[in-house]
Amino acid sequence: MITKQKGCVDIGGDDSILYEYIRNVVAHMMTSYNYSFIRTPIFEASELFHRSVGVSSDIVKKETYDFQDKGGRNLTLRPEGTAGVVRSYLENKGYSLPDVQKYYYFGTMYRYERPQTGRLREFTQFGVEVLGSNDPFIDAEVISLQYKILEALRISNLQVNINSLGDNESRMNYREALINYLKPHIHELCPDCQERFNTNPLRILDCKVDAQNEIIQNAPRTIDYLNTESKKRFETVLKYLDLLEIDYEVDAKIVRGLDYYDHTVFEIVSLDNNEGSQSVLGGGGRYNKLIKELDGPDSYGIGFACGVDRILAIMKEMPFYQDFKESIDCYVMYVSEEEKLYALEITQNLRLNGVITETDYLNKGLKGQFKAADRFKAKYLIILNNEDLKKGLVNVKDNATKEEVKVDLDELTEYIIGNL
Ligand code: AMP
Repeated sequence: MITKQKGCVDIGGDDSILYEYIRNVVAHMMTSYNYSFIRTPIFEASELFHRSVGVSSDIVKKETYDFQDKGGRNLTLRPEGTAGVVRSYLENKGYSLPDVQKYYYFGTMYRYERPQTGRLREFTQFGVEVLGSNDPFIDAEVISLQYKILEALRISNLQVNINSLGDNESRMNYREALINYLKPHIHELCPDCQERFNTNPLRILDCKVDAQNEIIQNAPRTIDYLNTESKKRFETVLKYLDLLEIDYEVDAKIVRGLDYYDHTVFEIVSLDNNEGSQSVLGGGGRYNKLIKELDGPDSYGIGFACGVDRILAIMKEMPFYQDFKESIDCYVMYVSEEEKLYALEITQNLRLNGVITETDYLNKGLKGQFKAADRFKAKYLIILNNEDLKKGLVNVKDNATKEEVKVDLDELTEYIIGNL
């Protein structure tokens, strides 16, 4: 038997109801904040990710799905959403539009990771990218939007961990301090960190292997190296978050794994879930350098990404999860061929009026159909019989109270809608 690939999941049954619910809540919130949906291709030129995410990043070095198509093009399955959105923004000259461009996406991402709880090879993220403004208002808006979406999904005990990497000057000063600090200890860190020391020392702070190592725990903090302007900017972002009543903690260890961040970086965690990195539901940051890196004009960008699979796993543990279990509005029951003709029409009519309706396709007897209706958790049973149909009537049974009434065939749909 062919089975699914390692690190992949099928989202079906009750999970798919939650998945659709998450998608709807996300779409609803994004629309209120006036973010427009963007769908970029699942594969892009490999170069896009090499240049944006960075060749020295773990993602590009170890985790991308790279392949050549039959035309010899070097392609990569997207490991994250930002690069594709920025590529599209530049290709469509979004920067020439007078307003700030605010996009959101919802789709699958691909990383060749070691699969474990909350870490898949194909996973779903939703996220935003805001292009064209450097105003701290946007930093606060993006962070609070992420927070508010998770809150709307009823995920409790959320906390934003926030840090600032500052502008280029601040980053360079910090980089130098970090190199000087790490130099005498570097041989005590993992082989990857030793390599990172030469390619991108900031990445060492993100290392999954050495995260608890004292050397990393005691490393210099980016916020101590911010120049006056960057410090002021960071304070403004925090002031705005206070105003929006977002719970945050300044966490100097957050530098984020990707090459392109500057100024604000953040993660959002669920404090209810203490399975280490699995509790990180999303994160993001400002990436003012990225647009130029991809041959665009000097401009500004900020975004976040949230992991839907981790959100879904948390929601499944919540008491209200039961509310999401599939239930239908009506089950239409019939036995004879004549009744079946009515069943066809009635079922179609109800469905076209938005009433979730199921019926029998297996020529089951009435007993079997009652059982099926219970499996579907049908609220109403519509029981057809020839005698009543001839008089223009149908039997409607409330499956909870077991009360049964005869309803005029012509008024059936309104009756059901009125009682749902
Ligand atoms: P990142 O793009 O690495 O900042 O990830 C943002 C969010 O996406 C994380 O906080 C996770 O919730 C989710 N995520 C990232 N990688 C994976 C993965 N391999 N499997 C499942 N979810 C992931």
